[in-house]
Amino acid sequence: MITSAEEVLLRRAIDIAARAVALGDAPYGSLLAGPDGAVLAEAHNTVRRDDDITAHPELKLARWAARELTPDTAARTTLYTSCQPCGMCDGAIARSGLGRVVYALSTEQLVALNPPSGAWPAVPHDGPALPDEARAPVAAYYRPTR
Ligand SMILES: [Zn+2]
Repeated sequence: MITSAEEVLLRRAIDIAARAVALGDAPYGSLLAGPDGAVLAEAHNTVRRDDDITAHPELKLARWAARELTPDTAARTTLYTSCQPCGMCDGAIARSGLGRVVYALSTEQLVALNPPSGAWPAVPHDGPALPDEARAPVAAYYRPTR
């Protein structure tokens, strides 16, 4: 359930998306807010400007949170974003330990507006191919030392 105060934050994320377009970037904006609703950081999509396929605002904010916040603080934040995060960003959001995501437009609604922006086809994976060899550096890294 979204409160009216949260709608204000979500509208701010939409405004960030609109500003991104004015700057020549794709129309996606996000912000990270603390438990009191204070905005901690904002970002917009800069895939074109940075020539970086990972320059999504949700991913930038997840990286920022993991770098700048304690895990306890990150867990009490909410990511407000103009569109539902993609799979790449969802992975980063989970790893960064953010507390919650609120989005304005669903992936399904986005795809209806721009069909190519939907789910990317999965790349085939082959493996495990050399598990015994690959296991050695991982086991050495995680082996407890005395
Ligand atoms: Zn994304």
